[in-house]
Amino acid sequence: MKQSQTLIPTLRETPADAEVKNHQLLLKAGFIRQNASGVYSYLPLGKKVLRKVEEIVREEMDAAGAVELLMPALQQAELWQESGRWYTYGPELMRLKDRHDREFALGATHEEVITSLVRDEIKSYKRLPLTLYQIQTKFRDEKRPRFGLLRGREFVMKDAYSFHASQESLDEVYDRLFTAYSNVFRRCGLNFRAVIADSGAMGGKDTHEFMVLSDIGEDTIAYSDQSNYAANIEMAPVVTTYEKSDESEKEKEKVVTPNAKTIEDVSALLNVAPEKCIKSLLFKVDEEYVLVLARGDHEVNDIKLKNLLQADQVELALPETVSDILGCSIGSLGPVDMKGDVKVIADHAVQAITNLVCGANEEGFHYINVNAERDFTVDQYADLRFIQEGDASPDGQGTIKFAKGIEVGHVFKLGTRYSEAMNATYLDENGRTQPMIMGCYGIGVSRTLAAVAEQFNDEKGFIWPKALTPYDVHLVPINMKDDHQRELAEQLYDLLREKRFDVLMDDRAERPGVKFADSDLIGLPVRITVGKKASEGIVEVKVRSTGETIEVPKEQLVTALDELLRTIS
Ligand code: ATP
Ligand code: MG
Repeated sequence: MKQSQTLIPTLRETPADAEVKNHQLLLKAGFIRQNASGVYSYLPLGKKVLRKVEEIVREEMDAAGAVELLMPALQQAELWQESGRWYTYGPELMRLKDRHDREFALGATHEEVITSLVRDEIKSYKRLPLTLYQIQTKFRDEKRPRFGLLRGREFVMKDAYSFHASQESLDEVYDRLFTAYSNVFRRCGLNFRAVIADSGAMGGKDTHEFMVLSDIGEDTIAYSDQSNYAANIEMAPVVTTYEKSDESEKEKEKVVTPNAKTIEDVSALLNVAPEKCIKSLLFKVDEEYVLVLARGDHEVNDIKLKNLLQADQVELALPETVSDILGCSIGSLGPVDMKGDVKVIADHAVQAITNLVCGANEEGFHYINVNAERDFTVDQYADLRFIQEGDASPDGQGTIKFAKGIEVGHVFKLGTRYSEAMNATYLDENGRTQPMIMGCYGIGVSRTLAAVAEQFNDEKGFIWPKALTPYDVHLVPINMKDDHQRELAEQLYDLLREKRFDVLMDDRAERPGVKFADSDLIGLPVRITVGKKASEGIVEVKVRSTGETIEVPKEQLVTALDELLRTIS
C-alpha cells in the first residue's frame, strides 16, 4: 500500500483529551478517530490490526471446536423480557422503538438471542454439546466511556455460547475454551493472567477473567505472593479469622464529636485506632434497605453484599433516603438505637471488636465502648469486605498482593439460568425433558487491540508485535524527487509485494524528518530506508524494537528480511 493512496492522518500533537498511552497513540498515529463519546471509526491501519486480532480469535475458537455464526444486533425486547434482563440490566442496555412502537434493544450481549435460537432448533441430547460464536459489534451505554477503545459504547466482541446435556460436558468445553483464550492472548503478545471472577449480571458460578497486567487497568487483581492464586478483588474471599481481645467490656457512653464525619475524623478526635471504629452504610438492595457494618479500616464490597443477598442491584442509599429512613445524616449512622427498622448485616470483623466506636444516629455525637450483641443486634454476619494487601491468601498459601488489570476476556459457566427462564430444553436418553446447561465466553476484541497498543510502544510511537502489525515493512524513500531513490523504492515495492511481504510505502513528498517521525509513530517492525546509497543499490534496514540498523544491497534484501522477520517477535 502506498501512503498517498490510503488514509493515515498522523498528528504532531498529542490530543489533549486522551489520558492514556494507547488512546493517545491510536489517535496520533492515525489508527482511529472518535465519532461520539465511546464511539470510534477504525481507519485503515486500525482496521488491519483489528482484523488480525479477529483472525487469531477465529483460529483458536475454530481449533477448540466452536462454530462461527452471526446474530442480529437489533434484538426484540420480548426476548429480554423473557429472561428478565429487560428489567435488571439497567441503563447500559440501549433501547429503542421501531415505527410501530415496538421495543428493541441493541445487543449488549447475546444470551437471549442464542438461547431462543438453539431452543427452536435443538431438541435432542444427540445434538449436544454445541458451541457457537460470533464476532460482532456490541452496544453498551457505559456510564464512563473512556480510554478510547478500552471502554467504548460501541465495541467489537467475540462472544461464544455452549449448550450441554451434562455438567461434565460443560466443564470439558469450558477448559478447552480457557486454553483457547490463553492461546489468543499469548499470540497477541500480552502479559496476562487468568483470575477468578464474579459472575455479575450473568448469573452462574464458575467464572474466570483474563486480565492484562497494566497500570491503567480498572480492575484490581488480588494474587498470592506464593501460589497461583489470583482473583478479581470483587470476588476474593477474606479467610481471616478474627480473635476477640481479652479487653473487658466497658460501659457504653455517648460523646460529642462535632464535625467528625469520617472514620479518620472520629479516630483522630477520640484518639482511637480506626480498627476500633465501625462504619455504618445504608444500602439499597433491590427494593429493600440494609445497614451494613464494617471495621473502620476496611472497605465494604458491594458485590459480596449483592451475592450474599442474591440481589440484582445494590447501591448506596442517597443522603435524603438515609435521613428519611433513619432520621440522621450519613456521617452519624450507627447500629445502636436506630430510629428506623432495617436489617443489619455486619462483616465478620465487627463481631471481634471489644468497645467499639460508632455513630449515635444524632448529628455531632458518637458512642464509645459499644459491643455487638450487648448494645445492638446483627441479623447476619458475613464476609463483606474487600480483601487487602497483606491479608492471607484464600488458598492458604502466602499473602495477598495487588496488581492492576485490563479485562480482555471472560469465561462463565452459566448453568441453566437462561435455559430455564426461556424454556430451552432437550429430550435426554430416557425421553425426559431437561433444561440445557450453558456456558458463555467473551473476548473484547477492540479492547484487546487497545491493550496491545498500551503494551507495545516507546516515547516515539508504537512497536507492533509481528502477529498484529498492520504491515510488516515500512519502505521509506527519503526524497521522492531523487530519481535513484524513487526508482529503487518502486522496484523494491514491487519485489517485496511479489514475495508476499505486507509493505507500506511512504511515497509522500514530505520532509525526511516528518517521514521518520511518522514511521516511528506507526511502528511497523522493520523499516527500509532508501536514501543516498540508492545509486549503489544499497538500502538501510532498521528494526523498530531494537533500533538495530544494517545496510543491505538490494539483491540480498528478501533474504535479509526473511531472516529478520523470523527472529522478531
Ligand atoms: P467490564 O467489567 O470491563 O465492563 P464486563 O464484565 O461488562 O466488562 P463482559 O460482559 O464479560 O464484560 O464482556 C466480555 C468482554 O467484552 C469483556 O471481557 C471485555 O473485554 C469486553 N468489554 C466489555 N465492555 C466493554 C466496553 N465497554 N468496551 C470495550 N470492551 C468491552
Ligand atoms: Mg461492563
